Amino acid sequence: MLFGRNQKKPITLPEKKVEEWVYTTCGYCSTGCAIEVGVDSEGRGITARGVADADVNRGKLCIKGIFEYELFNTPGRGTAPLMRERRFDDFKEASWDDALDKTAAEFKRIQEKYGPDSVAIVSTGQLITEEFYTLGKLARGCIGTNNYDGNTTLCMASAVSGYKRSFGSDGPPGCYDDFSHTDCLIAFGSNLPEQHPVIYWRMREAREKRNFPLIVVDPRVTMLAQFADIHLAITPGTDVVLLNALAHVILAEGLEDRAYIETSTSGFAEFEALVAQYDPVTAAKICGIDEDTIRNVARLYAKANQAMSIWTMGINQSTHGSDGVVGINSLNLITGNIGKPGGTSLSITGQCNAMGTREWSSCSGLPGYRVLENPEHRQEVADFWGIDPEFFPKQRGMAQTDIFPAIETGQIKALWLVATNPMTSMPNTARIRKTLERLEFMVVQDAYADVESNEYAHVYLPAGLWAEKEGVMTNTERRVNLIKNVCPPPGEAKADLWIFNQLAKRFDNGKLINFPESASDVFDEMRELSKGRFLDISGMSHEKIEQSRGLQWPMGETAEEDSARLYSDGKFNHADGKAKLIPLPYIENNECPDDDYPFWLNSGRVVEHFHTRTRTGKVGNQNKFSPTPYMEMNPDAARELGIEHMSYARLTSRRGDAVVLVQLTQRVPYNMVFVPFHFHECVNRVSLGLLDPHSRQPAFKQSAVRIESVEQQAAAAVTNRAARSF
Ligand code: SF4
Repeated sequence: MLFGRNQKKPITLPEKKVEEWVYTTCGYCSTGCAIEVGVDSEGRGITARGVADADVNRGKLCIKGIFEYELFNTPGRGTAPLMRERRFDDFKEASWDDALDKTAAEFKRIQEKYGPDSVAIVSTGQLITEEFYTLGKLARGCIGTNNYDGNTTLCMASAVSGYKRSFGSDGPPGCYDDFSHTDCLIAFGSNLPEQHPVIYWRMREAREKRNFPLIVVDPRVTMLAQFADIHLAITPGTDVVLLNALAHVILAEGLEDRAYIETSTSGFAEFEALVAQYDPVTAAKICGIDEDTIRNVARLYAKANQAMSIWTMGINQSTHGSDGVVGINSLNLITGNIGKPGGTSLSITGQCNAMGTREWSSCSGLPGYRVLENPEHRQEVADFWGIDPEFFPKQRGMAQTDIFPAIETGQIKALWLVATNPMTSMPNTARIRKTLERLEFMVVQDAYADVESNEYAHVYLPAGLWAEKEGVMTNTERRVNLIKNVCPPPGEAKADLWIFNQLAKRFDNGKLINFPESASDVFDEMRELSKGRFLDISGMSHEKIEQSRGLQWPMGETAEEDSARLYSDGKFNHADGKAKLIPLPYIENNECPDDDYPFWLNSGRVVEHFHTRTRTGKVGNQNKFSPTPYMEMNPDAARELGIEHMSYARLTSRRGDAVVLVQLTQRVPYNMVFVPFHFHECVNRVSLGLLDPHSRQPAFKQSAVRIESVEQQAAAAVTNRAARSF
């Protein structure tokens, strides 16, 4: 009898009959993995593999990327435009002409009656960059509303704001290759193995070779924290205190890079005076990290030859989000760790093309990192598009998180949602529901007709998704990569670019502005507009991008190579060429636990799902591994409340309540619970989402709840109903 290895029978996979492999880029997270989709003789995407010679992922994919091709056959897709006169009537199928005529006519009627800014547009981080640029042309150049923003306000606005305040411009300065050069890494509120699995793999591979210390700052013992050398289980919302204390130790012990501070920064005296107040003993009482650990981490970071910081939503989704980013930048500036291999401050972006929308969508300004407040920028873009610069507003309008309250107050009467789903993604679901019901007219443009927000729409426009379209996306490390068309959208659904172009024809300026039909022609316009700008892409083309498996901006017309890092010369984008060291006084402004609501509510992602599960909720393997919402709760706290493992509990806040399955685990401290944010009618029924004053990003991760056991049968019915809604 054979034992062990000799008895093993190799698994044989059924032959898939791939006729062609089509190069594309993953459309989920911002890692930017290059994928080849296997297409059969009938043109169907039937399998996928990572691209071996792509620098980002080197052949690897995570569970979402591996099964992304299944999206082409998922249920719930919109296959024809839909219209209805009154909300909650049955939708009726319509022709594209009727749906677009109705949309344009309603926008014009409402703008005429209530003013141009009474129409709002909320877009996404998931379109292709050429589509973002075209939507910007339509919104800024044709429709003419100033209330146009992206859902990236929910995930990356604090990073954008912090980069601009510190360095004078948006744009992550580092790259994944920095993991291979660093001597010390701090990850702030970033759970790479679940959020960005392939970046995690790059980091782990580099750490196996160089054995650099990994320090994780997170209130929860995340998967990344479990692999850390030092885990700082920080009190929620107090990152700024910790960062000030780290700077305090570095300056007090003379560990700073004095030469770099003098040549490349401004504001040092004010910064030094502020951090002098944050000695580790005082800071420890606020941020919950003991004073010796603060000193130890500060010394490790400052003494490393190269040190780098990464962060994700744990920093951004806070009332101090922008300040947290500025604090991380300052930590790197005072230690001379910007723009050198292994020394950087790198925001790990969320959505696949959150960077593309920041660069080209005109959401917060004009294309190519131009701003509405600058008359030269308005003139340049107006000349390029062939319209009067007076058509542009002279300052930025509302952020997404201000648009919804403006609907409540009656300032905004019409809303166009493009590939975003606020009924699940925004805090305080009950309030969002009432808000959407107040609109005179609402349009949803999405690949899925069953997206929750579509319940409130008057017109639904069915769009293509991912590789049903083509164009480029920019990843976390400024790498522009290509999506090639694998198959057409189903039924009458159309690429977003086509929809924007057709709608533009229905506005006066749409006859003046050129709206190219192909993505490569749109890319040529973007190249032209980027010449000489910080994010210059004039040296790129779709062909070159594919050949190189992605290129990092800036890459000017005459450049022989792309750029791995920014600010390597110590010159920044503020007028004096220096980076700013900004003092950050800490003011407690969260909804903290109290006697009535004694638990912190924390939320985040699981590896199987993406955002509101509009897509991953339809993919078999994703659902098999993560089918229902759940809540992580500390066993000691649960025992006191009589709550058992795998029972149901109700979590209640000042906004509402939700019933969830309890998973007892020491991953969360005694006074905290954690719930994944992907599920409809779950954590955002109770979340608060106070806004960061600089970025307008909501503090999803800090609010207060109470927990109680519920009668099990009733709870199961609630959960089953929620699960069936997908
Ligand atoms: Fe896609 Fe991100 Fe997974 Fe890569 S890590 S396959 S980009 S979801």
